[in-house]
Amino acid sequence: MIKYSFVVPAYNEQENISLLYEKVRQLINKFNDTYELIFINDGSKDQTLKKLKELAVKDKNVKYIDLSRNFGHQSALSAGLQYATGQAVISMDCDLQDPPEVIEEMIQKWESGYKIVYARRKNFRKDNLLKKAGSKIYYKFLGRFSSIDIPRNVGDFRLVDKTVLREINKMPEHSRYLRGMVAWTGFKHAFVDYYRPDRVEGESGYTFVKLAGLGMDGVFNFSSIPLKIGFYLGLISIISGFGLLTYQIFDFVINDAYYHLYKWLVVVMFIFFGFMFMLMWIIGEYIGKIYDDVRNRPVYIINETENFEQQK
Ligand code: UDP
Ligand code: MG
Repeated sequence: MIKYSFVVPAYNEQENISLLYEKVRQLINKFNDTYELIFINDGSKDQTLKKLKELAVKDKNVKYIDLSRNFGHQSALSAGLQYATGQAVISMDCDLQDPPEVIEEMIQKWESGYKIVYARRKNFRKDNLLKKAGSKIYYKFLGRFSSIDIPRNVGDFRLVDKTVLREINKMPEHSRYLRGMVAWTGFKHAFVDYYRPDRVEGESGYTFVKLAGLGMDGVFNFSSIPLKIGFYLGLISIISGFGLLTYQIFDFVINDAYYHLYKWLVVVMFIFFGFMFMLMWIIGEYIGKIYDDVRNRPVYIINETENFEQQK
């Protein structure tokens, strides 16, 4: 039985593969436990696959999954997680921005009973201003509107127990926002804080566009606020329409004011538009429900049971 699985997506990481391998080995030597190091080659255009092949021949603890093309970080990670068989599964980046030293502390937390251990960045990413500002605003927004608590400043560097992994692997949804999915399971979690260094070799595969895509998945998969926009617009439109209509009627009846036909039409249109927005919201809610069903997340997740005759 394997105790630790390390799952590492790699996209154009030829320089980093062996560096990471050495670091993980050093770490595992301290624990003297069984482990597997799973790389996912996410359609790299450089020598990543060749490096992985060489390593896998040398050391049977190294395994790799070679994807047919570039599917993106979250999909690559999902593939690796499907293959991980360890008691504790650690997902990390290939570029040594997720320092293996932090893993020791994560393992300690896991051993003391936490099923999810997030590594949390203390410094902020030394990226360009756009990424930085975007990320700040994004987490504010997500924290406010999301239906579950998605921890801030955590990426995909984390340890999960195999019970958590089993739930994640059961979720067949296509657009995968793994940090949200992990948080959604709701198991007991802890944080380990760390300073995130710069990338050692190569370039970030996350362009602003890819990052924005990931962000959108976070919002659309974990919050129903976008659906409710129609409701609020409709409400504003109907209330102001009725307000204006009432005003016009009073003005017309009491003050004998004259209103051109188009002014009556405008207020009536306000009201009609309001109802249209409302209808769109109702349709949105149905689509939301269909989306929930299609995603096929479990209705509940059990942590443990006691005294039952039969284990389900
Ligand atoms: N990655 C991947 N597919 C991609 C982009 C990135 O598998 O399309 C991997 C990459 O090799 C690294 C991790 O995902 O192990 C994080 O990517 P990166 O370092 O580029 O992101 P950043 O640290 O800039 O957020
Ligand atoms: Mg990186």
